[in-house]
Amino acid sequence: MASFQVSIVVPLYNEQESFPILIQRLYDLFATQQNKSIEVVLVDDGSKDATPQLIQALALSDTRFQGVFLSRNHGHQTALTAGLAHAQGTEAVLTMDGDLQDSPEMFPQFYALLQEGYDVIYAIRQNRKETWTKRLAYYLFYRILRQISYIEIPLDSGDFALMSRRIVDILNQMPEESRYLRGMRSWVGFRQIGIPCERAERQAGDSKYSFRQLFNLAYDGIFNFSELPVKFVTRLGFVTVLVSLVFLLGVLIKKFFFKEVIEGYPSLLLAIILFSGIQLLSLGVIGEYVLRIFFQTKNRPLFITKHHIKNGQYIHENKP
Ligand code: UDP
Ligand code: MG
Repeated sequence: MASFQVSIVVPLYNEQESFPILIQRLYDLFATQQNKSIEVVLVDDGSKDATPQLIQALALSDTRFQGVFLSRNHGHQTALTAGLAHAQGTEAVLTMDGDLQDSPEMFPQFYALLQEGYDVIYAIRQNRKETWTKRLAYYLFYRILRQISYIEIPLDSGDFALMSRRIVDILNQMPEESRYLRGMRSWVGFRQIGIPCERAERQAGDSKYSFRQLFNLAYDGIFNFSELPVKFVTRLGFVTVLVSLVFLLGVLIKKFFFKEVIEGYPSLLLAIILFSGIQLLSLGVIGEYVLRIFFQTKNRPLFITKHHIKNGQYIHENKP
């Protein structure tokens, strides 16, 4: 059985238009890297177009390609997780998007740094060729996340990265259900380095991320790597309680020493609204974390594989 030094993991969701160009670019890479044995793990994330058929035909005819077919659309991060779990590369694994926004041609440069002793070589996106609204959203998100997260997540780094075998082994062991891989990768540590890369335009088709999915990814990034929301609400609650105690003291002093009447409804109403607001907010934030505990404790498999093609033949997984 062939053993591979390097794996390239590519998640694909409805990428039939980009697929031929992707494979061509990968073949070109193979041609320039003949001294290394490279495999490609193509993960079909429940595509509804011809992507699975394309992967199947390729993986059955060329043993350098593995086809991993998920049971349904599980999302980009999960597809990457599945790919990492199947990657056999003994030295390193490259993760890249299937729409060729990440250039496989960067591989030699990444690999050179791996040999210098780096464990993670990730792309820092230079100029995104996207709409200004999306660019602004990304810009703000990464900067906010950097301010509030408890680990250092590099600015503008995406999932395009070369990782050493030991990093991939650790990621594969990390059981968390809501996966924000670029944060998890950063959390693992060792020597990591960012390389500026142009982010090309999507080869074909539309972004497979809906605004909601993108928002959820940002959400996971913030709630999985920051305690600030909870801390903030706790502090806010603390301060408000202090303020109300001072207020109460003032009222008592007025009443007993100056025999004045307490203020009427407006202040009362204000206090009620203020405190219910704070309570709701706190509950929401606590709920956010409880939700995460809930999902994590279910201990579900991170992905479900329908079929798997390896070494040019079908391997059936998850069969009763
Ligand atoms: N993708 C996936 N599952 C999804 C959404 C996207 O596997 O549910 C893949 C997609 O085919 C592509 C990569 O993830 O290879 C990045 O997706 P996309 O280009 O849509 O994201 P964007 O570049 O817009 O952030
Ligand atoms: Mg893309």
